[in-house]
Amino acid sequence: MKQLAILGSTGSIGLSTLRIVEQYPDRFRVLSLAAGRNLDAIFAQCQRWQPQVVSVATESDAAALQTRLRAAGLTQIEVLHGAAGTVRVATLPGVNFVVSAIVGVAGLEATYAAVVAGIPVGLANKECMVAAGEILTREARQRNVPLLPIDSEHNAIHQCMRGGAKAEIKRIWLTASGGPFRALPPDQFANITVTQALQHPTWVMGQRITIDSATMLNKGLEIIEACRLFDLPPSAVQVTVHPQSTIHSLVEFVDGSILAQLSVTDMRLPILYALTYPERVASDLTFDMRSLSHLDFEPPDFARFPCLRLAYEAAEIGGEHCIALNAADEIAVDSFLAGHISFSAIPRTIEAVLEQTPRRHPSTIQEVLQADAQAREKAREVLRAGAKKKSVSQT
Ligand code: MG
Repeated sequence: MKQLAILGSTGSIGLSTLRIVEQYPDRFRVLSLAAGRNLDAIFAQCQRWQPQVVSVATESDAAALQTRLRAAGLTQIEVLHGAAGTVRVATLPGVNFVVSAIVGVAGLEATYAAVVAGIPVGLANKECMVAAGEILTREARQRNVPLLPIDSEHNAIHQCMRGGAKAEIKRIWLTASGGPFRALPPDQFANITVTQALQHPTWVMGQRITIDSATMLNKGLEIIEACRLFDLPPSAVQVTVHPQSTIHSLVEFVDGSILAQLSVTDMRLPILYALTYPERVASDLTFDMRSLSHLDFEPPDFARFPCLRLAYEAAEIGGEHCIALNAADEIAVDSFLAGHISFSAIPRTIEAVLEQTPRRHPSTIQEVLQADAQAREKAREVLRAGAKKKSVSQT
């Protein structure tokens, strides 16, 4: 029986994980949950799953949840909050698999704590790998703790890599849908609205990752994630735009063979794979080969999507540059979603922050979090300076 801690249980990966648990009640049990600020959703999950421990973002949220749980007669559930609460959720005695699906670096400490405690991790949180991949993979290798990618591309790579030895891999190919603006003329990128950017052609996902797909920064983060997870240099990680998102990624071997993984675009499949690895279990997630008529591929357009270039540069430098890439993007995307900056200001903001980022390599999670906070502050400064310039030019 897999006894699960789900970090980010009210997000889209968390919900998909709980649907899997629902479908395989004899295989999985929910032991602990960590959520953010969606109290209605986490309250409903407590009623349905009756975890031993639950953690939410803030102390006041925890108090409010506690009151509601008591009123509902659920007095046995321990309610915690903040980073320490999430760490406790991840390392609760009895937990033997952690699904790490908190968006951003908020899940980093807990993911690291799980690895140190020797608990296998299903990794949906790519920011963890981007910001602290060097530290996390080193710990995981030393302790022989499996890190199983849930990100669909890396999950596909993980599957294809079973077709040969590490030394036999020439390079890997991450597929990218190209997002909604693949064919948009470059001069129109500044006018892209929030509503347009939130419409992803093939995947239904959270808000930040949908915007990141539209800028292709998401693919950039995935390049870094792949370098860390599979211990490959950036030059061995290629991107191919594949609008149908049918092939989730490919591995090219030294003999010229290329293995690809195809399946439905449903995150339950990579989650199920990670949860049951090295087994494969029967599911209803069937891909109808008869409906497959053609597959399109094209090279990525680095001029339309400067985030890709920024990511390769950060992957090459490593350390704080990867942290800053992610942190600056999160701040810039928030600002775009709030209507404060244009779509094309997102990569400009990231680049301005990267130019001011030192070439340092943090060796602890605390140092990673510090560098992350500094990069965020720098991104806010860049945005403030931009807003000032704008208001000056308007007067
Ligand atoms: Mg992905």
